Amino acid sequence: MSKKLLLKDAHIEGIRYFDVYRKQGGYNAVEKALKMTPEEILEEVKTSGLRGRGGAGFPTGMKWSFLAKPEGVPRHLVVNADESEPGTFKDRYLMEYIPHLLIEGMIISSFCLGSNASYIYIRGEYSWIPDILEQAIEEAKQAGFLGKNILGTGFDLEIYVQRGAGAYICGEETALLESLEGRRGNPRLKPPFPAVKGLWERPTVVNNVESIAAVVPIINITGAEYAKIGVGRSTGTKLISACGNINKPGVYEIDMTITVEEFIYSDEYCGGIPNGKRLKACIPGGSSVPIVPANLLLRTINGEPRYMNYESLADGGFATGTMMGSGGFIVLDEDQSIVEHTMTLARFYAHESCGQCTPCREGTPWMYKILKKIHSGQGTMEDIDLLWDIQRKIEGNTICPLGDAAAWPVAAAIRHFRDEFEWYVKNPELSQKQNYGLANY
Ligand code: NAD
Ligand code: SF4
Repeated sequence: MSKKLLLKDAHIEGIRYFDVYRKQGGYNAVEKALKMTPEEILEEVKTSGLRGRGGAGFPTGMKWSFLAKPEGVPRHLVVNADESEPGTFKDRYLMEYIPHLLIEGMIISSFCLGSNASYIYIRGEYSWIPDILEQAIEEAKQAGFLGKNILGTGFDLEIYVQRGAGAYICGEETALLESLEGRRGNPRLKPPFPAVKGLWERPTVVNNVESIAAVVPIINITGAEYAKIGVGRSTGTKLISACGNINKPGVYEIDMTITVEEFIYSDEYCGGIPNGKRLKACIPGGSSVPIVPANLLLRTINGEPRYMNYESLADGGFATGTMMGSGGFIVLDEDQSIVEHTMTLARFYAHESCGQCTPCREGTPWMYKILKKIHSGQGTMEDIDLLWDIQRKIEGNTICPLGDAAAWPVAAAIRHFRDEFEWYVKNPELSQKQNYGLANY
C-alpha cells in the first residue's frame, strides 16, 4: 500500500471547502511555518529532497536558494498550473478536489521566498477550475490566512489567478511569464533564469502545482521524515496520471518504490490491460519523454526490475530508458500503431511551436508531413532516414525544450520500432486498410 501525503483526504466529501479541509488538519502547516524563519523553512525543503514535479525534476530547495534578493525589489512566486502535456492531468485533480492544499502550500512558500503577491497561471482549457481556486482563496482570506497581517505575524500575501488562452508553450516557464505580463507567450533565452530575472524582471520562483502542494506535508512531518519516503534521490510521493490501454485510468499517488510492472498490473493502480491484451509500449512521463517498448519498460538493460522513480526510469539513458517527466503515464497495447501515435504527437508539436526558432518552426511540421506520408502508405525508406535526420537537427538547437520534446518521441519511435516504419513502406495497400498493430501482433 503506497503512502499518501497529498491525496490522503481526497475521498472526504466537501474537502474542497475550507471548513472541512481545516477539520482534517488543514492550515496547521501554515500556523507552524509562520512561527519559523524563512531560512528554517528553506532548510526543511532542502532536507526533504523534493524535486520539481512539473517534469524537469530540478531540486526545489536549490531553486529557492538561487532566488536573488536585491534590496527593495519585490520577489514573486508563480505557480505553473498550465498543465498541458498530453497524458498529464494530476494537477487538475489536485486543484479541483483539494484546492486548499495548493493555497496552503503557496502561503508557506511565499513566506519563505518573501513574496507578497503570488500568482497561479492556469491553462485556459481548465475553464471550471479558476472559480474553485478563487473560492478557496476567498475562504482562506476570510479565515485570516491571506491578505494583510496573516495570523498577526505582519506577513501580507495576495494570490491572483490568471487564465491562459490555450497555448501549450505557455507552460514553459519564461513563456508563462511573458503571457502573465500581457504579451505573446514566447519563451525567453535562459540564463538569466527567472530566479534572477523573472516576472517584470523581478526575482521569481516558478514551481509546478504539485511541488508547491508537497511543501505542506514537508512542513507537517518535517523534511527529514519526507526524505525517508521513497528511494535515493526520488524522495516523497509522486502523483501519476495514468491513461491509455489500462483498466483503471486515473490519478494515483505512489511512493516511488514500486515497480513499473506492479503499477501497470496491480489492482491498486492501473489494474492491467483490458481484454487480456499484451503490453506494447509506454510513455511514462508525458508525451515529451521517449516511448519505451514493453521489454525495456519492465526491466532495465541489466535485467533488473524497473521502478517508478526518477533514477530507474532514466536508467540506460535515452537509448533504452526514458524519464519520469510530468508523471503522465500513457500505456499502449498490442493493437496500437506506433507510426500513427508518433504522427499524432508530431501534429501536436507542430501546431504548438511558437515559431521563434527555425529548427522547431520548420522541423516540426516537416516531421509531421513525413510521418503522414509514411502512415498513408506513400513513404519510402529514405523518408525514415530523413525523419531521423530532421529530429537530430532540432534537438539541442532551440530556445526552449519544445524542440527537444518534438524530436525525442520521433527518435525513440524509430530507434525502438524501425521495423514498424518499414512495414508501412513495404505494405502500402495494407497500411491504408489496417494499422500495423492489428496486422502484426
Ligand atoms: P529546466 O531543466 O530548464 O529547468 C527546471 C527548473 O529549474 C526551471 O524552473 C529553471 O528555471 C530552474 N533552473 C535550472 N537551472 C537553474 C539555475 N542554474 N539557476 C536557477 N534556476 C535554474 O526544465 P524546464 O524547461 O523548466 O522543464 C522541462 C520539462 O517540463 C520537461 O522535461 C517536461 O517533462 C516538462 N513539461 C511538463 C509539462 C506539464 O504539463 N507538466 C508540459 C511540458 C513539458
Ligand atoms: Fe518556440 Fe519551438 Fe523555439 Fe520553443 S523551440 S522557442 S516553441 S520555436
